[in-house]
Amino acid sequence: MKHLFVVGLGPGDTAYLTPQVRSALERSQVLCGYGPYLDLIRGEFPEKEYLSTPMTQELARCRLALESADAGKTTSMVCSGDPGVYGMAGPVLQMAEEFPEVEVQVLPGVTAALSGAALLGAPLTHDFAVISLSDLLTSWEVIEKRLEMAALGDFSLCLYNPASRRRRENLRRACQVLLRHKGPETVCGWVRNAGRAGERCGIMTLDALKDFQADMFTTIFVGSSATRVVGGRMVTPRGYGVKKCGS
Ligand code: SAH
Repeated sequence: MKHLFVVGLGPGDTAYLTPQVRSALERSQVLCGYGPYLDLIRGEFPEKEYLSTPMTQELARCRLALESADAGKTTSMVCSGDPGVYGMAGPVLQMAEEFPEVEVQVLPGVTAALSGAALLGAPLTHDFAVISLSDLLTSWEVIEKRLEMAALGDFSLCLYNPASRRRRENLRRACQVLLRHKGPETVCGWVRNAGRAGERCGIMTLDALKDFQADMFTTIFVGSSATRVVGGRMVTPRGYGVKKCGS
């Protein structure tokens, strides 16, 4: 059988690799992915064959990985975080129909929502929604509608892709939409480079968030109306009083 693993590395440091992903990487002859992600694991797997394509060449990268597996080399396509969260699992499975002999297995990793939430405290402990602010593949109208509906539903929010070099204004625009339905004092948090060199995080109000300079390595958390700052941590209560927590 010809094997392609689509694996999530987690946020960065190899301490976050799940044992399942680690063993898939060990079994693979070829590791394929975006260069900076491959650099995170090169030190631990120096003997592998590495394949990569530039940032905007995602589909070419999927084809490269499938062709490598089809040629009989067990291959891993590596993604940051989880491969099914704004990652390559979907496109690989779509393209895999052209490669019927390749068995594709998707292996989960710790996504930025989870590694970032843990750094801030417990912002996602109740119902939450995840929205990407990238309007490269989704129109801004759709993003705005989803933000508005999630705000109306009083979800906690986790916002991926809040900015890039070319999209500086998207976080500000998102905050303006959220402020139609959420108070300016709503507790928010940001996490930059979770689990990597340069890891930083902070807590601020929704009003202040609209002027925050996020970058492509930042994930944003917006609280629900119940979210509070407790001992310096961002906490969304589960709904019961603390006294009942042990029951
Ligand atoms: N598959 C990835 C997400 C890719 S989309 C995952 O599951 O985590 C890229 C976005 O993810 C970034 O713009 C940022 O919002 C977020 N992200 C990925 N890694 C991160 C990290 N180490 N720290 C903070 N945010 C991160």
